[in-house]
Amino acid sequence: TDFASLGLAEPLLRAVAQEGYTVPTPIQAQTIPYVMQGRDLLGIAQTGTGKTAAFALPILHRLAQNRKAPPQRGCRVLVLAPTRELAAQIAQSFETYGRHFRFSVAVVVGGVKPSPQIRALARGVDVLVATPGRLNDHLGTGAARLDGAEVLVLDEADHMLDLGFLEPIRKILRRMPKERQTLFFSATMPQAIGSLAKDMLRDPASVAV
Ligand code: AMP
Repeated sequence: TDFASLGLAEPLLRAVAQEGYTVPTPIQAQTIPYVMQGRDLLGIAQTGTGKTAAFALPILHRLAQNRKAPPQRGCRVLVLAPTRELAAQIAQSFETYGRHFRFSVAVVVGGVKPSPQIRALARGVDVLVATPGRLNDHLGTGAARLDGAEVLVLDEADHMLDLGFLEPIRKILRRMPKERQTLFFSATMPQAIGSLAKDMLRDPASVAV
């Protein structure tokens, strides 16, 4: 397979070619069709496998094909990540792959001033990449809301649980619509991860690399 046969929108094919990607990695080839069909997904994959593009490309495809204003103080897509560094990398990947069409990204993480985050949220963003603790702070003050979100991604779920983010994640879930698409990625699948995945996912497709 190549990227064009996955059916990705032309601006994405151009960005991928510019990055020098010629063939999808195995996680991309397996994941992208399910995500484009709107399925929930349970992905077992390590970093370095091309996992970020596996979820970012089909999500960007959805944004490119179905343009609308994001909800005020909210987002269309929420990506949860365990660390500030990973959140920044994920946001950068969205910007790289989405550079040929107009959409917005914001990063909401701890350790930095909340005021720029509050301003970015106020307008609403297409893609919000967040760590669970700081996002919960903004949900508590009313600076952020998630009732209009369409897609949720959990990246490195096992790492998030190791860092004590189970309760923050559960709080965030309670603020999201039941009717949504959820993509759940973890490098390992211990029991606690399995039961969180089961609570979050609806008839998921499974992909392991
Ligand atoms: P990730 O697993 O998302 O951290 O990606 C690992 C690295 O693989 C990143 O540097 C990407 O730029 C690169 N990458 C992702 N997809 C492809 C692809 N299809 N072909 C070549 N490199 C890729």
